[in-house]
Order: sequence, then structure tokens, then C-alpha cells
Amino acid sequence: GSQVVDRSVDSVCPFCGVGCQLTYKVRDDKIVAVEGRDGPANHGRLCVKGRFGFDYVHHAGRLTFPLVRREGVAKHGDAVPPRDADWRDTFREASWDEALALAAGKLKALRDRHGPKSLAGFGSAKGTNEEAYLFQKLVRTGFGSNNVDHCTRLCHASSVAALLEGVGSGAVSNPVNDVAHAELILVIGSNPTVNHPVAATWMKNAAQSGTRIVLADPRITDIGQQAWRTLPFRPDTDVALLNAMIHTVIDEGLVNQDFIAQRTSHYEELAQSVARFSPEAMAPVCGIPAQTIREVARAFATAKAAMILWGMGVSQHVHGTDNVRCLIALCAITGQIGKPGSGLHPLRGQNNVQGASDAGLIPMMFPNYQRVDNASAHAWFEDFWGTPLDRSPGYTVVELMDKALADESDPHKLRGLYIMGENPAMSDPNLNHTRHALASLEHLVVQDIFMTETAWLADVILPASAWPEKTGTVSNTDRMVQLGRQAIDPPGDARADLWIIQQMAQRMGLQWNYEGKYHGVAAVYDEMRQAMHAAIGGIRWERLEREGSVTYPCLADDDPGQPIVFIDRFPTQDGRLRLVPTELVSADETPDADYPMVLITGRQLEHWHTGSMTRRATVLDALEPEATASLAAADLARLGVQPGERITVRSRRGEVTLRARQDDGTADGCVFIPFAYAEAAANLLTNAALDPFGKIPEFKYCAVSVQKA
Ligand code: SF4
Repeated sequence: GSQVVDRSVDSVCPFCGVGCQLTYKVRDDKIVAVEGRDGPANHGRLCVKGRFGFDYVHHAGRLTFPLVRREGVAKHGDAVPPRDADWRDTFREASWDEALALAAGKLKALRDRHGPKSLAGFGSAKGTNEEAYLFQKLVRTGFGSNNVDHCTRLCHASSVAALLEGVGSGAVSNPVNDVAHAELILVIGSNPTVNHPVAATWMKNAAQSGTRIVLADPRITDIGQQAWRTLPFRPDTDVALLNAMIHTVIDEGLVNQDFIAQRTSHYEELAQSVARFSPEAMAPVCGIPAQTIREVARAFATAKAAMILWGMGVSQHVHGTDNVRCLIALCAITGQIGKPGSGLHPLRGQNNVQGASDAGLIPMMFPNYQRVDNASAHAWFEDFWGTPLDRSPGYTVVELMDKALADESDPHKLRGLYIMGENPAMSDPNLNHTRHALASLEHLVVQDIFMTETAWLADVILPASAWPEKTGTVSNTDRMVQLGRQAIDPPGDARADLWIIQQMAQRMGLQWNYEGKYHGVAAVYDEMRQAMHAAIGGIRWERLEREGSVTYPCLADDDPGQPIVFIDRFPTQDGRLRLVPTELVSADETPDADYPMVLITGRQLEHWHTGSMTRRATVLDALEPEATASLAAADLARLGVQPGERITVRSRRGEVTLRARQDDGTADGCVFIPFAYAEAAANLLTNAALDPFGKIPEFKYCAVSVQKA
């Protein structure tokens, strides 16, 4: 508040997908404070991350010049050094010219020798839309394949697969603060107080005004205090619970006949399929009493408006796509979609995971979800970019790690990888495998702001800009495209990511003239807008500068944008929502005598993702300095462990040692570990088994043992 500052710069929070607008307060070219702004998603509110998680940008560990691996220094996938360890024996400083020539030159040589599929790129949901767009264009037109992906594969890939199939669009139908218009909201597989804190405040406000919250989650978290009913179902039994609710709606004659007849297809198949899933039959499976399932299903169906919000607890399973098919079906048969206070809202976890996906950081889709194997989309982009393009979908994040370890004889063996702003050596499942895969690459280029666990395995490291150091757009969970403005300069010789991508493109042999075509972020945005005209055609750069935030779809300059979609039609081929029946599929790895407990991973309020930013933010680090594992009191007692004592958690893939914390919201038999801590990396334990549709790994369920350390 009262600090004297040199300037105030309006931007957006760099963390979760809620998209809170904020103002950076700058003095002596340093950010000294952050204030909430009256944006459409936050109305001045910020959570502890948004308000206090900013001084990572001034951390001593920032990369300030390009680095090149020293001759003969081997890569060790099994020994990642501690955070901010001295890297001078491993890397040497290089000029931008040398680093870029090496980074791009080696990728080009691998492509020429082994073909386009020997290369891949991971973009970032933490970067801007413009960076995402240009990065995927570089991979498709420069590397020559569709091997481009990003962390959406690890968060909502299954949600998007089900939504594209069912309703024809992967984005939300209604914004978060529509909860104020809902009579009932079903929050499932989501801990919004921690992961989407300002969104959670809208839910709590709604509850105070009479909205009934139903929390369905194996972990009963803080939002449960506001809930009308809590359904702590057994982990892995989402489909059983949801099909029992669908069964109830049909069985008790609560379906919306008109909506089903006019707006959906394949209802008979769904009805037939769920006949077997009565609440009475499913209660012993999911652990929720049949009468409670019926009561909640009735309340959902008969509410004037009911809305579903979900998170990774739904999506990160081998049956994640099936889980979301059930959510779609529940909304559809009750007519709870296409009106205020209703619909489907997969809460996005990163500030630009919606936008990065829209902009085309996806191996099977061009920008705006145009399939790469669709002939007309393919022809359009070949014409638009003026170059031949691969017709076959690329590999996904986890598949690419397997391809890195493939035999020499595999024509699609991955040899060269360019990673911009992601940290798979912390965020991927089964890290021992991932880190070995990364270490085995012939050439790894990492563009980041810190020496991440992934950067340690690189051949060339390109020092990039942090969020407050650049101007660009991000798209939040509500489909709002918002403008962030540069508040400070990057430190030392670190550069803007847009500049780095273009330098890489030029050195890969692409005819992108930085001085001409992409002379600024607005020019990149405008090309992207043309490629995505069916979504953001009406959102010109000047409009964003004026309004700060515009919701898509927005097709013309005078179109106000559509916060609520599907009002009279779904963007599917026949305009109808497609119902898809589901079966019970169990987790890939279930507990047994050796590994009797279930591991659930996630985030905590103070730390975000792999912790590369928040653990270097002074206040956040002081609040939560150390890795912990949450267990129920009964399990701690059984294990003879006091809260605060150290435990070792093992799976078939690895082990971590960390402090035990008592959390009575965690079910007996479960252990919850946040994945932000490099020194006790939860993903050493997790299972890389994939959902067959979304190709998302099963972060939310694997078998572990727990012992006192
Ligand atoms: Fe940032 Fe999300 Fe917190 Fe808002 S709720 S301040 S977007 S982390």
C-alpha cells in the first residue's frame, strides 16, 4: 500500500488458471509489491501466491547468460543436484551467438540425419499465447513434425478428449463466478481452496447465499466446510459413483426429456449401459451409501441450475476420459448446460494452460483444435504458413520419453528436444525413467529462468524472461484472453522468449525475419488471431490494450464475447451433445501386501507445480519450507509415527523421505504428497500408465508403502 514506487504496471497473476488481474509496484527496477486489480475473474482479490509470490524474479539463482555443457561432462539421470547448487563444473558461459548456433545447429543436424520425428519440442503453459503459437509453428515448420506438446498432457488432456468428443469444445461452458447463479455445484476431484484459491472464494460466497455445494473427493479438503454434502468416495471409483448418479436420474424419472430429444445423441446406449450401475450395486464399490447417492443425484437433477467444477482428481487417471464422459452425461440428461449457473468447468491449473492448448501446443492439433490429420485443416495451415506440413499426429509428453529410450533401430527414436519453460524432470511421472530418458538425448536445449532439474540435463541452456519481464496475452480458465504488461527488464543477458524462439527458427533455416514480420508481440498475436479466427477473430490487440480482458468466442469487433456457451447448439458436427457410455476400469496399479497404501499427488496453497518459482519466493518458502506427506491419524498411529517425524514412502519405481503431517481429510490407506519438492520428488513414485484417449498419466493413484524413516 503506502510504499513509494516509481511505477505501477498492470498485469495478470503468473500462477493458477483463475487469471487474477494485478498491478506490479516497481521501485529501482525491482518489484516491491503486488496489488489486486478489479479484473473480471478476481474483482481485486488475490491469494497468497499472487500477492506474495513475486520476488523469485529477483532471486540470485536466475540464469543471466547462456550456458553450454562442458566438454566431456556426462549427464546423470539418477543424480540431480540440489536446487541452486554450483553449476560451474558442468556448464560454461557462452555468448548468445555461440549458444544459439550450437542449440539450433545440432537440432538441424539431427533432423537432416535422422528425419523430423527424431526431434520434439515441449512448450509451456506458463508462457504467453504468442510464445506458444510461435513455438508450435517452429516445431511444425522447422523440425518438420507434430512432436510438440506441453503440460496440458499432464493435467486436463483427458478432460479435453472427452469434451471434444462430447460437446465439440475443450474449454469451459460457464465461468467460475457463475456459481453465484447455481442452486447446486458439484465440486469433484478438486481442492479449490489450495489450487484455485480466488475461485474458491466465489464458491464460498455462493454457499453463504444459499448455493448447495456437493464435494465429491476421496480427500475431504477445506471447501468441505461449506459443503451441503460430502462424498468421500474410494479413490479410483469415480465412474462407479457417477454412473450410479446417472442411473438414479433415469431410474427416478428426473431426466430432462426435451433437452435429451433436442440437444443430445446416443441417449439409448447410455441408458442401457447405466442400467447395471444402480446406487445399491455401486455403494459397496465407491463407499458412498446408496441413499446419499440418490439424494445428491435428485438434488442435481431438480436444481434450477446446477454446475460441475472439477480438477486433476478427475482427469489424472487411466480412466480420466471416462470420468469426464460421466460428468458430461450427468449435465446433459438433466439439461444442466447452456444456461447461467450450469454446465461443465474443468478448472485450469496454470495461468495459460487454456491458451497454450488453444494456440496449438498439442501434437494432434493445429491452433484452435484443428486436427493435423483433417485434410482441410492441413491444407489451410500449409497455405497459411506457406510450407509443407506433416499429416500425422505427433507423440505426447510421456510417449516422447519412451521414444528417447527406444532402440537405435526405431525410426521415431527421439534424439533432440527443445524445452521452453517446462520441468519434466520434476513434473513427469516415474522420474527415474524420465530423467534417464532426458539424459540419454543426443541434444537437449532448455530455455528457462532457473537451473531447473531439467536444465541440469541440458546441452545448451538459454536464459529466458520471467512473466513480469514481458508483454503478452494469457487465457484463463474462463476463456478470458488477458493482457500482461512488462514491468521490469530481464536480468543480465537473459532475453525475451519470443526473441529466442525466432533466433532458433532462423538458425534452423526458417525464413522468419525478426526485424520484419514479427517485430513485436502484437504482430505475433495478429498472425495467431488469423489462425484462430473462429475463436478470437474479434479480439484485436488494440482491443486488449483498451479492455485488458475479452472472453472468447468473440468473432467481431463489436462482439462482447460469450462467457456462457452451448445456449442453443453444441459445436459438434451435428450440433448435438454426444453421450458416451462408460465401463468400470480400475487403476493400473492397485495396492497389495508389499505396497498396501495409495499415493495421491497434488499441490498445496503456497507452492505451485515443480516449485521452481514459489520455492524461490521468500514469503512462500518461509510459509512452507519443507516437503511433507499427509496421512490420516489412524494410519499414523498404525505406523507408529508422530506428526512431524520423518517417513519413507516407496513405490515400485522409487522412494522419498519426508515429514509426516496429520490430515484427517485424507482417507485411511491414502498418503498425499505435493510434487513441488525436488528433495522429496513425489513423481519418483508415480506411475506413467496412460489413459488411452487423453494420454494422461495416472498421477492420482499408485501403490506405495510407508515406514518410519
Ligand atoms: Fe494467482 Fe490463482 Fe491466486 Fe489468483 S487465485 S492470485 S490467479 S494463484
